[in-house]
Amino acid sequence: MSLFVQKFGGTSVGTTEKIKAVAEKIIGFREQGHDMVIVVSAMSGETNRLVGLAAEIQDHPEPRELDVLVATGEQITIALLCMALKARGCDARSYTGGQVRILTDDAHTKARIQDIDVTNMRADLDAGRVVVVAGFQGVDNSGNITTLGRGGSDTTGVALAAALKADECQIYTDVDGVYTTDPRVVSGAQRLDRITFEEMLEMASLGSKVLQIRAVEFAGKYSVPLRVLSSFVEGPGTLITLDEENDAVEQPVVSGIAFNRDEAKISILGVPDAPGVASKVLAPVGDANIEVDVIVQNIAADNTADLTFTVNRSDMERAKTVVEGVAEALSARCVVTDDKIAKISIVGVGMRSHAGVASKMFKTLAAENINIQMITTSEIKISVIISEKYLELAVRALHSAFGLDKE
Ligand code: ADP
Ligand code: ASP
Ligand code: MG
Repeated sequence: MSLFVQKFGGTSVGTTEKIKAVAEKIIGFREQGHDMVIVVSAMSGETNRLVGLAAEIQDHPEPRELDVLVATGEQITIALLCMALKARGCDARSYTGGQVRILTDDAHTKARIQDIDVTNMRADLDAGRVVVVAGFQGVDNSGNITTLGRGGSDTTGVALAAALKADECQIYTDVDGVYTTDPRVVSGAQRLDRITFEEMLEMASLGSKVLQIRAVEFAGKYSVPLRVLSSFVEGPGTLITLDEENDAVEQPVVSGIAFNRDEAKISILGVPDAPGVASKVLAPVGDANIEVDVIVQNIAADNTADLTFTVNRSDMERAKTVVEGVAEALSARCVVTDDKIAKISIVGVGMRSHAGVASKMFKTLAAENINIQMITTSEIKISVIISEKYLELAVRALHSAFGLDKE
């Protein structure tokens, strides 16, 4: 007998019919004698609908109120799933994040889990009940409802698995595992049997939303066995593993390709090529709580420099205003922005021991006539910024060039 924490995403519980099917699935595991703790997301589209309602009232609603609002989505699904289980004779009990007591910090809309009280869940499991917990939400020290950021139910699942020392955390979604790239963009993408935590973390942070970044971080930190599977088709899914377990197997150089369209580019042109200029531009951006991702500086022949950096698209206008604020003091020529960009990244632990990966990536893009605007690398990834209109072409070309296409 094992203890499983299973998380079902929005599409898996998108209709009452699907909720009934999830209940059947859970009962199947109960019949095999397993203890089950279930985490559910809001029904698909519900969180977006709630965010949209808030936007009809106010441009920037207070994060505390936004959390009170969006946390209702998951409360609906826990109740409906418990009803579906009970209707089939399976005893179950629902908990909101606050009722379990998933204690978080007070960073509304992006709170971090600090502690989980397992007392109630243990008592229910001992009494033979299925425990159903609302994903994505918690409560801070003062009793305020908090949420964990979009996609946060994955993190709830992993955190509960860590707290309960579950045998496995299983993330059920609408694809049957982690693929070499988003299978909705490249039809030849292949499911990976295994991927290391390190690679999965890069894939998630570079835009593959199949798992929330924090869920992967958490699973790595607490060694939670983590698997991604489909709610709709049977199969082994993808196991996220520790590096050591993979040592014996020869690593592919590139394991996957991630991309995102969420960034925008800001350039300040014609600033003096002198010490301290980059910090004069970027420090106020940081002070405005705007995260900067890729940074590039080009030096012109006339001893001036152009500094370009990327930020989240939703922060572009704010970042532009901040940079314009320092442009005059630096005698800059102008500030320009571009939100029609995309970041594409190749990821693989095998890159550590292989030279020439970057040049192959650049050659592949050049052969498609795709201009690289910015480049950034780390030990196990290379990311480039390109024009958004070439994104899908670039993903397909790289997927094929690095031998990831299905035979
Ligand atoms: P859920 O609602 O179950 O949390 P998400 O929509 O958050 O599901 O995540 C699943 C989606 O992630 C898939 O439908 C797929 O389009 C996307 N995705 C992006 N990159 C990958 C990848 N490398 N492997 C699998 N799915 C991916
Ligand atoms: N319902 C939340 C969202 O849409 C959390 C989740 O699904 O993981 O982001
Ligand atoms: Mg998700």
